[in-house]
Amino acid sequence: MPISSINRRFFLQGVAASSCLAVLGLPMVGSAATPALSVQKITDRIALIGGAGGNVVLYNGDAALTLVDSGSREQAPALLKLVDELGVNKKIGTLFNTHWHEDHTGGNEAVHARGAKIIAHENTRLWLGADFDVEWRNTSHKPRPKAALPDQTFYVDGKQDLGGETVEYWHFPQAHTDGDIALYFPVSNVLVAGGLLSNKMYPIADSATGGWIGGLLAANAAMLARANDNTVIIAERGPALKKADLQAQHDMLADLFEVMKTREREGSNDHDMLREKITAKYDTRFGNPDEFVKETYRGMWVHTYDMGGFI
Ligand SMILES: [Zn+2]
Repeated sequence: MPISSINRRFFLQGVAASSCLAVLGLPMVGSAATPALSVQKITDRIALIGGAGGNVVLYNGDAALTLVDSGSREQAPALLKLVDELGVNKKIGTLFNTHWHEDHTGGNEAVHARGAKIIAHENTRLWLGADFDVEWRNTSHKPRPKAALPDQTFYVDGKQDLGGETVEYWHFPQAHTDGDIALYFPVSNVLVAGGLLSNKMYPIADSATGGWIGGLLAANAAMLARANDNTVIIAERGPALKKADLQAQHDMLADLFEVMKTREREGSNDHDMLREKITAKYDTRFGNPDEFVKETYRGMWVHTYDMGGFI
């Protein structure tokens, strides 16, 4: 079936509407550097695009399309081609950035060039335009060109009418970064968690740009309080998840935060904790813990005061 036929049925006629998580496999060609994109239909108006770096969410509004995150720079041409197919060449009106990381903002310039307005938390705009080191990735960030920066920023929660549904955006301070937002579509009952929820891997709280485990845990708790068992939750990467997956990450973080605080007060550092395999019971679900333990430990030192100091 030609791609255009699949997509017209997808958005205009609601194919497989009874199956909320139906996966549409699209015959696109990828390579090692630019793997093929995937599309997961979430509702008649919302699609999850995978393989573009971080997850990209497409909302098909009455008059225009909205994107949540823009993927990597390398995948921007393929992403826009797919969005044109899915949206039947409707214009892209708005792009939200959930946070500054390049796998979520790499396509900003390309989407901007289509005339879309970019909306993000003010801290995300500041990081995108800044020069700083990212120690846990052993790299440095150079200021992105003006074309990559948001046009509209905010400091607190808000709402935006997207045509057919009003999306809510929630800011969670000092979590994955200090500019994270999650977006909630209340009619569709879809929650886009951005960097606040990982998929089959340990989440990272990026201490270089204001993230730490205490804030990430609080963000997870706040999202849990607003989700229900029917909420479709979009993580940083991978297919759509459910509240139980968010609960599992929250509970793991809550447990390991306490374990790491105790070990730290006893004099253990991150290398000691990894050697002691403090994460062992979670590794089957969340994978290699090395980066998580090292970056969590680094962030805890930044937030010693918030934890009441160490003995
Ligand atoms: Zn991220």
